[in-house]
Amino acid sequence: GAAMAKSKFEYVRDFEADDTCLAHCWVVVRLDGRNFHRFAEKHNFAKPNDSRALHLMTKCAQTVMEELEDIVIAYGQSDEYSFVFKRKSNWFKRRARPCHGVELISCIFSFLAPPTVPFASKFMTHVVSQFASSYVFYWRDYFEDQPLLYPPGFDGRVVVYPSNQTLKDYLSWRQADCHINNLYNTVFWALVQQSGLTPIQAQERLQGTLTADKNEILFSEFNINYNNEPLMYRKGTVLIWQKVDEVTTKEVRLPAEMEGRKMVVTRTRTKAVPLHCDVIGDAFWKEHPEILH
Ligand code: ATP
Ligand code: ATP
Ligand code: MG
Ligand code: MG
Ligand code: MG
Ligand code: MG
Repeated sequence: GAAMAKSKFEYVRDFEADDTCLAHCWVVVRLDGRNFHRFAEKHNFAKPNDSRALHLMTKCAQTVMEELEDIVIAYGQSDEYSFVFKRKSNWFKRRARPCHGVELISCIFSFLAPPTVPFASKFMTHVVSQFASSYVFYWRDYFEDQPLLYPPGFDGRVVVYPSNQTLKDYLSWRQADCHINNLYNTVFWALVQQSGLTPIQAQERLQGTLTADKNEILFSEFNINYNNEPLMYRKGTVLIWQKVDEVTTKEVRLPAEMEGRKMVVTRTRTKAVPLHCDVIGDAFWKEHPEILH
């Protein structure tokens, strides 16, 4: 009867339900530089924004997107980057493995596995290790006169968002964080570098100030209109896939010719292109509807 249908083992169904839901979720991996306050100081980063460091971070993120599959958008600021993976309905299936030999026991009990995102740890470790090795690999291209003094590290985490709206809100949250920190840091370093305040004094001066107050200090005391500060500093960096025309010259050498002939070849490639635009409003998502498809 009805009582029989609900055994004490019934609860394991919840795990299945969770997995089904997660299969339709957006998976985000966010990494962040470990102890970069110190790293920035040791490597003489400009305050409050070192553009070399920001460009290096973006180069690493582009490498991650090009090396790994299925990232639809990335967003970075300061020492962090977030990567959004395409929604996949077959994640759960990919975890299922055939049962044979010594794996039989663990296979039987695998339905008790906690409701985590299948392969989440694999996504995350791939992203973070690819990013960290790229950071070292490309360092010299961005910091020509500044040697890398020790190997930097990054932490990573996986977060799952159940809908387009929560994903948009996640990216908005990171961009709002960029804005808040950058406005604060811009005033803070103006007070320290241009007005000669000590860091403690600058901090006290800014205690309890609102956005409008900070804009006012910048404008009246330093003649800085915050809205004219570089977009990369104020908005962070969005990476999306775009078609780009690549022009290369190829040397064509015919057997009969002594000298090679240069030929201009144009081909269209899809690349992870950096933008410094607003993602909080609707405009960005209306302009790029393909991202969330
Ligand atoms: P944790 O290990 O907890 O992340 P952290 O020292 O890295 O500690 P964060 O909150 O991640 O702390 O802050 C990163 C810090 O790195 C910034 O506060 C800033 O001092 C420095 N930093 C990162 N990127 C830049 C940059 N492009 N220009 C200047 N400073 C930067
Ligand atoms: P995946 O990304 O799934 O790990 P993979 O190509 O790295 O794919 P592994 O099962 O990890 O596959 O196997 C690593 C392979 O790398 C080995 O099969 C071998 O070909 C090569 N390899 C690793 N270390 C050595 C080594 N010290 N000497 C020679 N070959 C090596
Ligand atoms: Mg941190
Ligand atoms: Mg950090
Ligand atoms: Mg950080
Ligand atoms: Mg391997």
